[in-house]
Amino acid sequence: MQDVLIPTAALHDWIERLFSAAGSEATEARLTADHLVGANLAGHDSHGAGMVPRYVSSLLNGELQLNRSVEVVSDTGSILLLDGQRGIGQSIAFQAMEIAIERTRAHGVSVLALRNSHHIGRVGHWAEQAAAAGFVSVHFVNAVSGQPIVSPYGGIDARFNTNPFTVAIPREDNEPILLDFATSAIAQGKVRVAYNKKAKVPPDALIDAEGRPTDDPAVMFEPPLGSLIPFAAHKGFALSMVCELLGAALTGGETSQPANFAKRYGVWNNMLALLFDPARLGTGAAFENEARSFMDYVQSARKSAVGEILMPGDAERHYRRERAERVPIDAGTIAELDNAAAAIARARDVDVGALSKLALD
Ligand code: NAD
Repeated sequence: MQDVLIPTAALHDWIERLFSAAGSEATEARLTADHLVGANLAGHDSHGAGMVPRYVSSLLNGELQLNRSVEVVSDTGSILLLDGQRGIGQSIAFQAMEIAIERTRAHGVSVLALRNSHHIGRVGHWAEQAAAAGFVSVHFVNAVSGQPIVSPYGGIDARFNTNPFTVAIPREDNEPILLDFATSAIAQGKVRVAYNKKAKVPPDALIDAEGRPTDDPAVMFEPPLGSLIPFAAHKGFALSMVCELLGAALTGGETSQPANFAKRYGVWNNMLALLFDPARLGTGAAFENEARSFMDYVQSARKSAVGEILMPGDAERHYRRERAERVPIDAGTIAELDNAAAAIARARDVDVGALSKLALD
């Protein structure tokens, strides 16, 4: 199925209007559109506009809450525990990061524990918020939804979610280095996009209900359900365990186990983030020189069949340049987005119109 091209500004405006119609205050609607369109711009369609139908269904089923502020549960200055109050992650994570950034400015370092947020989407967005303030950040995130979708290394049955791990390193006069990925072989949203496009996923990412490897995304949507597997075998699984334990168990959030599967329409995230000000190490100029020469050395290696050696964060920059004016969205996702707008129109009596009407010829 062919992708539909939507002008980037029009997509942002449509999402902002949709969330305003749903009941978000202006800042929340804008932050939500900034984040979702930002994910499309970064090339992560799995966490872009295509999440809107899921958010709308979570909202209309009484799970996702709008216009929530983070609640400070405990605060020792540089160590903070915040509760997201089941609010929309695009606003909740922004608020939490703003507080952590302010504390990092004051103390040089901060530990942010955030629990009970609705889906915080592309975690790199929050790491970029810290990097824009000049701070290194490391994020351990768990996710809980109606059912687990990733099997542990050595197991067949799904037991947890795609738990992302993220690191941003700011650089003077340069874009940050950004490591930001799911600990599953591929993100669930990418399986959804492939399913909507009727495409295959790469091999070694999925197993069917009997534990056999498959490239068919349908095993994640049509019974009997299969599961994603962790990236890099035991290493991805071990990192995912750390995300679950630091991101959720330690923050007082919910780990992925049956007692916590009752809220089944939303996706819930808990996050532990460590921020620090690298300037306080006093190694700024040396870091820039050493980092630059090391990256040059790495990129001087002879090229394999992959064809190029990228730095973490380069892929997102490449997509941002390519998509500045228009974003491709697959036709299946566009249909789901039109349905989501219709659902909001019925529930709130404000019709923002179909996104498909904004498609370029
Ligand atoms: P991915 O597999 O596309 O990997 C992205 C990372 O790899 C980026 O850091 C990118 O710069 C880097 N990268 C890409 N190509 C590279 C190359 N050739 N060389 C070096 N580095 C390269 O990402 P993903 O696993 O599909 O995750 C996508 C997004 O989903 C992330 O933003 C993540 O935060 C988000 N996510 C969120 C949740 C949640 O619950 N909120 C869960 C899972 C994933």
